[in-house]
Amino acid sequence: MNFVDLKRQRDKIEPKLRSRLDRVLAHGKFILGPEVSELEQALCATTGVKHCIGVANGTDALQIALRALGIGPGDAVFVPAFTFVATAEAASQIGATPVFVDVRHDTFNICSESLEAAVEQVRRTPLTPSAVIAVDLFGLTADYAAIEAVAKKESLRIIEDGAQSLGASANGKMACSFGDIATTSFFPAKPLGCYGDGGAVFTDDDELAELMRSLRVHGKGSSKYDNERVGLNSRLDTIQAAVLLAKLSVFEEEIDRRDEIANFYSGELAASVTTPTIPPGHRSAWAQYTVKVPAALRNRLADELRGADIPTAVYYPKPLNEQSVYADSEIAAHCPVSRALCREVLSIPVHPYLTTADTHHIVDALKSSLASLSD
Ligand SMILES: *Cc1c(COP(=O)(O)O)cnc(C)c1O
Repeated sequence: MNFVDLKRQRDKIEPKLRSRLDRVLAHGKFILGPEVSELEQALCATTGVKHCIGVANGTDALQIALRALGIGPGDAVFVPAFTFVATAEAASQIGATPVFVDVRHDTFNICSESLEAAVEQVRRTPLTPSAVIAVDLFGLTADYAAIEAVAKKESLRIIEDGAQSLGASANGKMACSFGDIATTSFFPAKPLGCYGDGGAVFTDDDELAELMRSLRVHGKGSSKYDNERVGLNSRLDTIQAAVLLAKLSVFEEEIDRRDEIANFYSGELAASVTTPTIPPGHRSAWAQYTVKVPAALRNRLADELRGADIPTAVYYPKPLNEQSVYADSEIAAHCPVSRALCREVLSIPVHPYLTTADTHHIVDALKSSLASLSD
């Protein structure tokens, strides 16, 4: 069994994929070709956001968003401690200071009370509290109502890191439509993945959109050889846009299937492990299906499952504030929930090409392994 099965997906979309790729080979517009704007428009339509701009990867997307908001040296950027390193790295890349905030034990997303406390802490330093990057971890959108309340009071800009949540929604509002700017990633293993690196930024703000279009092409002005600011070389390849357009044709049914599998798991596993919390009105994109088990059993459970041909993953083994790169950060982080989660979480396969036999095997093996380990 594979943790993510891109081969079964490819078999399903192969004719569409080949005709999309053939078209790119025929027109030869490999940089910002017509597929890039077609994809951008399609993603505007599915997310309900006015502007979508394809970029080279999800980390650049965050960097471009921060730079468009004017964030830089002297600014504190609040990020959850329990996420992939890129969320904090983007702030570091532009000379800003990432400040780590704890997450909620139920949704694993940034905790607004901890955010408020971290802002107070930064106010006692020379840094300016400037922005928060909320991550929609494992595909579930963060609590933007609570984050917006803190951001409004403390004058913070909001970036939604939707690298894992494209396709999710909260009370009918789609992921990548929250905050001043939202970002996503098309890394192959994300819910919508290409065949290499890719990403996008989203905003309803015309000026921010224009700035980000400039930043992705060397800070260009009205033409390529008119340079107004220091930018990046961070375009989404035409070939990757073509792959994504082929995959978009099955994306909705894939999200439905992930949701169906997740609901099956939650029904079957609720008595054995702590299953994911999905607040009312929310629909996850299920980038991961992550359970919590007692820390003492977690690694042994993963070994048992591997023995039953079930791959698992630990997202994430270490909170970012404890990573050596951030260990001597100028703002001391207090993230006990993140630390505990790193010892308790285990992600099991939830990709949309699992068969019914696969999902039954997974719940049976998980239940029997846990029962024998708990004896
Ligand atoms: C994958 C990921 C990123 C970075 O995306 P890349 O395309 O790999 O650069 C950023 N944030 C989160 C939460 C991610 O999961």
